[in-house]
Amino acid sequence: MRFIYQPRFIQSVVTVVASVCLLVACANTSRPGVVGVQRSQFMMISAAQIDRISATSFEQQARNAQKKNILISSGPQYDRLRNIANRLIPQTAVFRDDTRDWNWGLQLIDSPMVNATCAPGGRITFYTGIINKLNLTDDEIAAIMGHEIAHAVREHGREQVSQALAQNIISNVALAAAGGGSAGSIDAANQIMQYVLVLPNSRQNEKEADAIGLELAARGGYDPRAAITLWEKMSKESKGKNPPEFLSTHPSNENRIKDLTALIPKVLPLYEAAKKP
Ligand SMILES: [Zn+2]
Repeated sequence: MRFIYQPRFIQSVVTVVASVCLLVACANTSRPGVVGVQRSQFMMISAAQIDRISATSFEQQARNAQKKNILISSGPQYDRLRNIANRLIPQTAVFRDDTRDWNWGLQLIDSPMVNATCAPGGRITFYTGIINKLNLTDDEIAAIMGHEIAHAVREHGREQVSQALAQNIISNVALAAAGGGSAGSIDAANQIMQYVLVLPNSRQNEKEADAIGLELAARGGYDPRAAITLWEKMSKESKGKNPPEFLSTHPSNENRIKDLTALIPKVLPLYEAAKKP
């Protein structure tokens, strides 16, 4: 008998979500670019709220790394990343106007972790492990960084936290605590950032980040075809003893390389027209 109610239940959930969308914000956070990413997004918290939480967690990460003496803030490897970031960040203006006011940051951490992230508001982290172990070229670093920046441009983190809040996985109390200035707020912020940086991204979010990342790299003067060699390296590495940490948050699938290959002709003219590094 329960099944009889199911369609109605689903319908009412859809109605609730639709009305919440009217009340809260079902926004498309970015312009489509040549790769054409467009989708209405469900947001229950403000961009300012997630930005504060992201900032708290990012500062804490730097302090922890500093204590362990593994935060690299100068030298050739840092400069290499800095230069790539400086070419990619301005390209985000194609997708939205406010990124020029973001408090962009870059942390390089000396660790064997094969990982890289970009937290909400443009806070980029690279681990030396991903550069060294995959022997990345500048174009491949730009492919990863572009992909990560794209998650921030699309506000996937804000969306994930909104969904967790709607499902009561995150409470409003935890959210309020994370936005505060107390000692407890650091723990709360770190916990909330788990939903953004540690849990696997959805296939849809991955597809969007791949597409926008490809365009950012091409516009920045980096060969977008490097995204293909990057994912080939990543998949080779995944068959080894220690699969890259990056793959647990960015689950790959057989379609990724196919989808990227299909988009390359769209962004290649941008690469050809761009000033090269
Ligand atoms: Zn991703």
